Amino acid sequence: MVIIKIDKDSIKENPNAGCNTYVFPGRTTVEEKDGVIIKSKELHRVYSLTREGKLLFSFIPTEIECSECKEKFLHTELESDAMGCGDDEFWSDAVCPKCGYFDCCEIEYEDIKSIAKAVS
Ligand SMILES: [Zn+2]
Repeated sequence: MVIIKIDKDSIKENPNAGCNTYVFPGRTTVEEKDGVIIKSKELHRVYSLTREGKLLFSFIPTEIECSECKEKFLHTELESDAMGCGDDEFWSDAVCPKCGYFDCCEIEYEDIKSIAKAVS
């Protein structure tokens, strides 16, 4: 288990406070159009709209290792993807960017609530 720490220098007031924290881990989409492969990447983002802290922040890029291919990369490179469909659908926010393995590592994001009091 790797803990992804909040970058305390990035914490600031959130002008859109009121909702919950949402982490978007990033995703690579591959499309083929007229024989040309188009690869687009949506970047890792953190939407932090906590009711308690009303803060925006980002996480410190942390090196993790894929349990399958043993490649090392930053947690911000992790991708999310869905597999299967209907009741069998399986969603992962920890897809290896190197080999595509689902749940390639165990990570936990530090809770802003645990440090929000210290900075407010
Ligand atoms: Zn891998």
